[in-house]
Amino acid sequence: MTIETSDPVLVQPGVPLLEVEDLHVEFHTRDGVAKAVNGVSYKVHPGETLAVLGESGSGKSVTAQAVMGILDMPPARIPRGAIKFQGRDLLKMSNEERRKLRGQRMAMIFQDSLSALNPVYSVGFQLGEMFRVHRGMSRKDAKAKAVELMDLVKIPAARTRVNDYPHQFSGGMRQRIMIAMALALEPDLIIADEPTTALDVTVQAQVMGLLAELQREFHMGLILITHDLGVVADVADNIVVMYAGRIVERAPVHAIYRQPGHPYTKGLLASIPRLDLKGQDLYAIKGLPPNLMRIPSGCAFNPRCPYARDVCTTELPAAVPLGTGRESACHFAQAVLEGEVAADVH
Ligand code: SF4
Repeated sequence: MTIETSDPVLVQPGVPLLEVEDLHVEFHTRDGVAKAVNGVSYKVHPGETLAVLGESGSGKSVTAQAVMGILDMPPARIPRGAIKFQGRDLLKMSNEERRKLRGQRMAMIFQDSLSALNPVYSVGFQLGEMFRVHRGMSRKDAKAKAVELMDLVKIPAARTRVNDYPHQFSGGMRQRIMIAMALALEPDLIIADEPTTALDVTVQAQVMGLLAELQREFHMGLILITHDLGVVADVADNIVVMYAGRIVERAPVHAIYRQPGHPYTKGLLASIPRLDLKGQDLYAIKGLPPNLMRIPSGCAFNPRCPYARDVCTTELPAAVPLGTGRESACHFAQAVLEGEVAADVH
């Protein structure tokens, strides 16, 4: 039995928990190079929830996998950038150091709990394994810890259900078990990748509420990856919106709901179902996200953007500051924010 006592990174007050700096990730395939992440930078502080929003293919999950060190390399390559955890660059650490950080200091919650959990072991055994392997606990003590964790994530009758198998739980309960597993070793940072996408709306809200509650209680940093702006409004502090591997807008979460500063964010907000618009057709952003082997020149969003003009097809827009903690990578960011630019002008 292994007892891991070494702690490769010590918490330093005032230093961000995580700093992703100018990160580039590409995938080398037989058909060419897919540029999945193209210069992403963000920070997460202890106790902060950062929502990372975008459609599939935007680079949000690939960035998270690079942070966790779970990308298959090759085909993935990280040609540029840094990922600093408490000031130390993870990309310069040995595999062994990174392995120790995973689970102990940073943990990930995946979307598909059924494939993330092992179907042939009871959930109690799987939760207890964290304590047996990482803390050297006996089977009996590890099982008691598993029950404690199941209580923490509000699984009813935890003491009797600890011996049940994953398929005996509902999707929502399984996702609670995933949260329990991520929390087991009290990490400083949790990355939740679409944690509620597979659940129905009511259960989604309960699981998201639980995650937010536990994040506050343990003062962890939380990165919430989602394609759905509707699920992060009440839980996130800040938001970054990604498109074609770049951050196109960043802002405090409530500012973005009040007044989006990028046409893509505007489109995402308009496509959230609203009770007051019952019966009306739901807005959908036209077209599809770009092929990452052939990202459009200029602003990658230009073929889908109702505000695009000639300059958008030739010049990559720089990030324009829009007030405290806000910026938008759009040539017409200020006008979009103030509603002073007309859509469908091309
Ligand atoms: Fe649309 Fe142009 Fe702004 Fe890109 S830069 S989001 S194409 S208006």
